Amino acid sequence: MIIRNVRILGGEPVDVRLADGMIAEIRQGLDGPESVDGAGAIALPGLVDLHTHLREPGREDAETVQTGTQSAARGGYTAVHAMANTSPVADTAGVVEQVWRLGREFGHCDVHPVGAVTVGLEGRQLAELGAMADSAARVRVFSDDGKCVDDAVLMRRALEYVKAFDGVVAQHAQEPRLTSGAQMNEGVVSGRLGLTGWPAVAEEAVIARDCLLAAHVGSRLHVCHVSTAGSVEILRWAKSKGWNVTAEVTPHHLLLTDDLVEESPVGAYNPIYKVNPPLRTRADVEALRAALADGTIDVVATDHAPHPVEDKETEWSAAAMGMVGLETALSVVQEAMVETGLLDWAGVAERMSVVPARIGRLAGHGQPLQAGSPANITLYDPSVRTKVDPSAFASKSRNTPYEGMTLPGRVVATFLRGRPTVLEGKLV
Ligand SMILES: [Zn+2]
Repeated sequence: MIIRNVRILGGEPVDVRLADGMIAEIRQGLDGPESVDGAGAIALPGLVDLHTHLREPGREDAETVQTGTQSAARGGYTAVHAMANTSPVADTAGVVEQVWRLGREFGHCDVHPVGAVTVGLEGRQLAELGAMADSAARVRVFSDDGKCVDDAVLMRRALEYVKAFDGVVAQHAQEPRLTSGAQMNEGVVSGRLGLTGWPAVAEEAVIARDCLLAAHVGSRLHVCHVSTAGSVEILRWAKSKGWNVTAEVTPHHLLLTDDLVEESPVGAYNPIYKVNPPLRTRADVEALRAALADGTIDVVATDHAPHPVEDKETEWSAAAMGMVGLETALSVVQEAMVETGLLDWAGVAERMSVVPARIGRLAGHGQPLQAGSPANITLYDPSVRTKVDPSAFASKSRNTPYEGMTLPGRVVATFLRGRPTVLEGKLV
């Protein structure tokens, strides 16, 4: 197959020939019987998400491996890491292999299960990290995401343990006592609305501690969904020491602020904006954008968190936390980072494909678009602007904060090892 007229990382138009799941040749003037017109779209290495909730097993009413990976493919992703907070929890070789097999059978992209750090995400006893690493799923990323590994001794042991197989502990940094009953960012808006505040220090204190622990034992730490300016300062300090610490930011924390809880197009107290960690202030958003641009924050990860209508369309305090994100991630990053001049397309590729693949130790993803690389390719048209319509999502859930917003760009096609999973914006 030949993809004609695409601009690799936004460069000059070229044609790309795919053969046997690989990129065989790139130059101008290629033609053949089986060809797709790229129409000048930007070609990026297939996107890789370090933080996806696929909800299967256990909450198939919210998402399944099939619908979640369809959503991923529509968003330009060729690989996702499936978080462990399923039911049962992915804390044994058996469960991670089950998710891995579901991915092989029903996946529209590669599915790499994340293993839980502690048994049942309960924070009391380490899970079978080695058995999960040795399983068919070959787990390298471990996380109790949704919950924080708040016990310092357990966190230290987990960091020590994963060194044996070059794993990484991905921490959901949230000091539980400081966030008991917390409903939104602690600040001016929470004060006015009378909602229990979620202080920045609850995130920052855990990040500081974990950076010190990772340095102490010489292991790899990854920080999930960084949301405050103070967290950025701590990460900048840890990186200046040469410690092996990486971090992610979500698209929504790059664009939205806590003001939306008070005043938004969908009214006040709308739980569509309820998310963990919470939306923060404009100053935090600016700090996160600058940190992603200068590399203090390494990657964008979606934290795609599907919930059925009944769990979101209820009163604020009862509503579930989380937003879907796979199908809007690239558009939001274009809006927040590219249109603002903070990143070019090579920078986007680095932060949404190359580096996440490296952190997850995925050899087949995040490779440069050149002859000899696996043909994992996303074609993206940044020139259009469209109104977000959740009813058109491939995800089983609709809990997007962008409904009705006009966002730039559109994923035109996604190729997984040379096979299209999306063409002309539609699932294949
Ligand atoms: Zn989390």
